[in-house]
Amino acid sequence: MEEKLAIVDSKQYGPPVSQDDPGFGTKTADNLPGTVYIPETGYINDARLSTQNVQKACEARGGEFLYNTEVTDVLKKDGCADGVKLKDGTKIHAPIVVNVACPHWYQINEMADVIGGMNINTRPLRVEVSHVPSPEGFDYNNLGIMMTDGDVGNYSRPEVGNNVLIGSEEPDCDDLDWVDDPDNYNQNLTDQWSLQVMRQAQRIKGLPVPQSQRQGLASLYDCSDDWIPIYDKSDLPGFYMAIGTSGNQYKNAPAVGIMMAQLITKCEAGCDHDKEPVSYEMEFTKRQCNIGFYSRLRKINKDSSFSVVG
Ligand SMILES: Cc1cc2nc3c(=O)[nH]c(=O)nc-3n(C[C@H](O)[C@H](O)[C@H](O)COP(=O)(O)OP(=O)(O)OC[C@H]3O[C@@H](n4cnc5c(N)ncnc54)[C@H](O)[C@@H]3O)c2cc1C
Repeated sequence: MEEKLAIVDSKQYGPPVSQDDPGFGTKTADNLPGTVYIPETGYINDARLSTQNVQKACEARGGEFLYNTEVTDVLKKDGCADGVKLKDGTKIHAPIVVNVACPHWYQINEMADVIGGMNINTRPLRVEVSHVPSPEGFDYNNLGIMMTDGDVGNYSRPEVGNNVLIGSEEPDCDDLDWVDDPDNYNQNLTDQWSLQVMRQAQRIKGLPVPQSQRQGLASLYDCSDDWIPIYDKSDLPGFYMAIGTSGNQYKNAPAVGIMMAQLITKCEAGCDHDKEPVSYEMEFTKRQCNIGFYSRLRKINKDSSFSVVG
């Protein structure tokens, strides 16, 4: 670790504890038992630009986008999905509808009347992301790396402006902030911000904790019961869902698009995915992907991390 990141503190501090625990910030062993370094890993530092790139690629293949409008109903005909109705009354007819509304998925599934046919639920979870300056004199932008660190209970990565971006890995000692209404939640930074930064300061020597200048954001994960997404059909023919991304899956989006296309094509050709799950060969790894793994009907997957790690 020290070879890869000169300012790292390689002591063991975990398992994570709450801020009022007397052991908070105290080492539990002189060294971590080990770490895994993945040279191929990386991160996207401009989510908006990367999303726009996907939009442009989609438009180049004939896709169309409609902005600043709201789906208010899912149309049905002869017991099948038949498109959507918009807030201004416009109806868009289509034989296939895919719910990708994430924290708002429930409202859309309710419109389609398919909530009853699901074993796995998802709920909006309010989370905070902290941005703090790099330790003084260190070029974190170029020398920092993406770290997922169960020992301090955080993930972190370099952020533009020589900052460190820090999020929580939801350690067992923390209470989670579940939200009932995705249109109404506290968007301000709270003590969770400081907790995350102080936990990270265990791992990065000299990390500032600028309490009076908190920077970052608060937003919602669309979090499933087992923190694994739902990529599936529904009980309404023609209505599909790609939801429950649980704070990860951003970079998976293009691959998930391919997977959903495979699922939809096979189901529309008559395959009963609930009984005989669709699988397909992934383009680069040549391994089989069993899409049934993401079924809305699955039992809670006890092997999950039950955190943003997925
Ligand atoms: C704070 C935070 C940090 C994250 N960090 C990471 C990370 O480091 N790595 C990672 O891989 N993932 C991360 N994620 C998760 C990632 O952002 C999501 O997996 C991803 O955005 C899901 O994309 P999506 O298009 O499926 O849904 P979303 O991005 O949620 O988009 C859903 C869209 O549907 C729209 N919508 C909702 N209801 C309606 C309606 N009735 N009519 C019309 N439109 C509607 C919404 O306005 C929204 O634009 C993070 C998430 C959060 C909140």
